[in-house]
Amino acid sequence: MYCVRCKSKGVWALATVKSDNVWFCDDCFVEHILKKVRHNVRKYQMFKPGDVLAVGLSGGKDSSFMLHILNKLKDEFEVNIFGVHIYQGLGSYSEESLEAVRKQCKELNVNLTIVKPEIEIKRYGQRERCSVCGAVRRYYLNKVSRENGAAVLLTGHTLDDEVMYFLKNIINGELGYISKQYPVLEGYDGMVKRARPIFNIAEEDIRYYVNLHNINIVNSECPYVDRLRSNQKLAILNMEKQFKNFRRGFVKNMVEKIIPLLPKQEFNSLKQCIKCGEPTSNDVCLVCRLKGLKDRTHEPKMKRKKIKR
Ligand SMILES: [Zn+2]
Ligand SMILES: [Zn+2]
Repeated sequence: MYCVRCKSKGVWALATVKSDNVWFCDDCFVEHILKKVRHNVRKYQMFKPGDVLAVGLSGGKDSSFMLHILNKLKDEFEVNIFGVHIYQGLGSYSEESLEAVRKQCKELNVNLTIVKPEIEIKRYGQRERCSVCGAVRRYYLNKVSRENGAAVLLTGHTLDDEVMYFLKNIINGELGYISKQYPVLEGYDGMVKRARPIFNIAEEDIRYYVNLHNINIVNSECPYVDRLRSNQKLAILNMEKQFKNFRRGFVKNMVEKIIPLLPKQEFNSLKQCIKCGEPTSNDVCLVCRLKGLKDRTHEPKMKRKKIKR
């Protein structure tokens, strides 16, 4: 077999392109990935020369991959980048994540902002820990990006993520959330413009790229890893085996044909939280509401003593 791009023989990397599996040599594989991201940036006008870009970094493979690529493209697009890491405080996993992010930023000479949220990541009343974690990360990523003058906040949503969120949103009837899956969302009312430059890159390609470049990522799993989510991703990979071009066709048509048909009801104007001033659709934002909530899971039950008469 020959590399589809340079026709040479070599060590083979497999990148699944369009409907068929197309073979690339390592160098052409990297060029192919760069070309895809470059195309995404231009097609969706994700950023323009002179912009400062905030890159959300978790220490995992997807965001580390995104940073590596953007660092290669930053001179060409005449932009400056800095990393933002939200420290979760979940034991050794969080320490390792922080270390991986620090190491990569140091190697690439990228400035890094580390945020330690004022709120503990745990269960609050009926709200599960993973939901709190997501809300807290979104809140601080936006706040820190805006405060540091970022024109755009970049997030590492992958092809597989996009399929999974679309399915969830359809099942829950959340059409407004599907609109928000568009690769670029303009900023408004205190929300920084957001973009997903790797929205059409499959996770196996990301894994190959990360291994090829020896990028240091966190090895351990989050202690509260969502098993259901992992299984859902496996189910999507299974669909890929049953339907030719499942993920790529799915996401391409979601972005190009379905989202443009949806009403943009989720883009109603936002208020400022009366406590912290961050954008919110309520009077008090979720993070401020959580700060005010007591963790009921660890509260001892009140025992009433019988009063003897
Ligand atoms: Zn080649
Ligand atoms: Zn608030």
